Amino acid sequence: MHGDDSFWRFGHYDGKWELQVMVVQWEGPHQPIVMWRPIRTWDAEPEPSVLNEAKKEACCSDNYIRYCTRCGRYMLKGHMHNEDTCQGCAERYLGVVH
Ligand SMILES: [Zn+2]
Repeated sequence: MHGDDSFWRFGHYDGKWELQVMVVQWEGPHQPIVMWRPIRTWDAEPEPSVLNEAKKEACCSDNYIRYCTRCGRYMLKGHMHNEDTCQGCAERYLGVVH
């Protein structure tokens, strides 16, 4: 539902528990820059179910992670060619060169 575990980072930072999502931006066509964006913080360590809800919310409402309808995989927004096609599928099926 919310992509690969590697898209997420969860830890104790500055006295708070924080959930972060990986954001990929492109500095030129072959220069991906990976950043971690805080999604939510908690004073006490949240239950796994709470953590999952926060991830789901970030996917659904904030579109950090999108679903590629061609390969059926969840991808980071930065790896999407458009709303419903990832960059890999755009190259494969649409002849787009990145
Ligand atoms: Zn795809």
